[in-house]
Amino acid sequence: MKKFFAISCLLILSISFLLAKEGMWIPILLEKYNIEEMHEMGFKLTAQDIFDVNNASMKDAVVLFGGGCTGEIISENGLLITNYHCGLRNIQSHSSVENDYLTEGFWAMSKEEELQNRGLTVKIMEFMEDVTEKVLEGTYGLENDEETEKVIQSNIQKIRKEASEDGKYEASVKPLFYGNQYFLYVYKVFRDIRLVGAPPSSIGKFGGDTDNWMWPRHTGDFSLFRIYADKNNKPASYSEDNVPYKPKKYFPISMKGVQPGDFTMVFGFPGSTMQYIPSREVDIVVNQRNPDRINIRDKKLDIIYDSMEKDPAVRIQYASKVNGISNSWKRWQGEIKGLKRLDAVNRKLEFEKEFKEWAKENGAWENKYKKVFSDFDGYYNQYSKYIKVSDFYSETVWRGADIFSIATQISSLVSFIENGREEDAINRINRTVSSIGNTLKDMDQATDEKLFAELLPVLVSDLENKYVPEKVRQLVNKFDKDKLIKKVYRKSVLTDMNKLKAILESGNMKKIGKLKNDPVVNLYRLLREHYEIEIRPFVTVIEKDIKATMKKYMAGIMEMKKGQPLYSDANLTLRVAYGKVEGYNPKDGVTYNYYTTLKGIMEKDNPEIYDYDVPDVLKEIYNSKDFGDYTVDGEVPVCFTASNHTTGGNSGSPVVNADGYLIGVNFDRCWEGTMSDIMFDPDQCRNIIIDIRYALFIIDKFAGAGYLLDEMELIK
Ligand code: ASP
Repeated sequence: MKKFFAISCLLILSISFLLAKEGMWIPILLEKYNIEEMHEMGFKLTAQDIFDVNNASMKDAVVLFGGGCTGEIISENGLLITNYHCGLRNIQSHSSVENDYLTEGFWAMSKEEELQNRGLTVKIMEFMEDVTEKVLEGTYGLENDEETEKVIQSNIQKIRKEASEDGKYEASVKPLFYGNQYFLYVYKVFRDIRLVGAPPSSIGKFGGDTDNWMWPRHTGDFSLFRIYADKNNKPASYSEDNVPYKPKKYFPISMKGVQPGDFTMVFGFPGSTMQYIPSREVDIVVNQRNPDRINIRDKKLDIIYDSMEKDPAVRIQYASKVNGISNSWKRWQGEIKGLKRLDAVNRKLEFEKEFKEWAKENGAWENKYKKVFSDFDGYYNQYSKYIKVSDFYSETVWRGADIFSIATQISSLVSFIENGREEDAINRINRTVSSIGNTLKDMDQATDEKLFAELLPVLVSDLENKYVPEKVRQLVNKFDKDKLIKKVYRKSVLTDMNKLKAILESGNMKKIGKLKNDPVVNLYRLLREHYEIEIRPFVTVIEKDIKATMKKYMAGIMEMKKGQPLYSDANLTLRVAYGKVEGYNPKDGVTYNYYTTLKGIMEKDNPEIYDYDVPDVLKEIYNSKDFGDYTVDGEVPVCFTASNHTTGGNSGSPVVNADGYLIGVNFDRCWEGTMSDIMFDPDQCRNIIIDIRYALFIIDKFAGAGYLLDEMELIK
């Protein structure tokens, strides 16, 4: 019986590598690995309809939005839809207490009213190519890892340079399977992207943190932008003369809705996953890294939420920041639960056992893989120690109080000047002034002081003495929180923009140089120096060693699984995930339906709770039942779930049906499946999608911006 159980566990584990619903697949390999199965699941188009270098295909309508989201083009005039949370930073940047687009929403009623977004880019892929051979050219036979890496990097530079065609394109080469494969990605980069519409946060963020990563969900997580190009339809910087971009392809929108079992495909830019890490690392994530980071973020969030609640200006200032902090904070909690429920560490151990047996049978154990495993043991012992320190510095200092981020900028300016490049200093000073201005715009001093005084002591109390500079420990031990604020924070010139600006713009290098004696800059420098000497070099070396060992281990897994489709970890490049519309059973006796409706929003309505305060206009529409064409059985559908393997970065991705028509916009995953970055569970992992008809309903009935629908192709 025991033996049977062990064998069936092994089987489940190997089969989970093959499950159709698991995986983020490379679009140019669909023909080889996936299309047959996709057809079996109901997909009606070809692999070329998804990705074709020579003809217009879906890939021409999928964009990398900003630094880490996906968006899709939905009209011949470059109209683009992504998530509300992806556009939030831009929506926030146009908002003030007088013009509060976060509370009121924003709708351009004509193209002239669309708002420019400095720094926002949209990338559209021209082509991708397997360049493994070219990248590894000249490395065969090299024994030394460093030498090999040098050759690889120089090959990559050459490939990128050639592909960029003198700056016409942005080209990057990224490793897959820990460097067992390399792909080249070539993009057009658009820099004139304008805000077209966004619902109020009471719709776009409905449910807030309480509902984030949860099902049932009722969030209208979408926003609209438009890509502009020059008169020749080429990417260009912002100009009034630019015109809406004419894409090679845009997504028609299905008004037919979804049924359980329907085929779904998510096409986007998943950010990062760790599907192949060994048991030791899973253990560190579950028992150390996630708990450490959650604990520190608990403190940050308490302080920030408290301030946001008290002051509407602070609520606007911290909207995007708090979103970022709380998003991972909550995901880490779900991840711990999911990995524990799956018994992930033991399942990984089982797989490692299977791998070892395979290696022994194939005569590769003694000479190759025995060392891989003993190396892992040694490296992870070190890694757990140093990554703890690194996590603490990251959470309490580098991403702690904003005053540290200003100190970072001043400190690097001072070093720049000290290094004797005075002639370039003026430019550098100007950039520093503007970037500090941006930090201060979204910072409230009273809140920041509290963060500073709360987080710094954590570094001292939770880390071994040798990891914190002596002087910092003395300071924290000498002063209580109030005094830390009075004697350090408030003695700093960093939050007084006028004074600081006067010093910086005086151009007096001596005066600027003296800023390094500012109490917070000085504190920052002590911490930075200590980190750079006592911590960073160790983390870097261990991470490099682990990566090199992972490359060998991964090569082994690939050999062991030869002939079976294997997907590589996400790395913010274009991928396809396919599955079907389905609900799930989160626990014994509970079944979740696959969709939610406006009725559920009314049920959650509670003006007392910020996250559930439904706008009056939406309530009026609900009561009048003026739902237009956007109904299922008399109710407006809001969100639905499907079994596509997604992660961060897939936010905003198009979700299409068997005909390739847009049925929704991906925005989240369900709580029970948040561990899918490390281990996927086909029973529990569901992605959450806003039904495109809810977005259209909001645009049309709620915002009165129905004219935008005229440029879309609605398939009834
Ligand atoms: N809401 C998620 C995010 O933070 C999307 C996901 O991870 O599924 O990006």
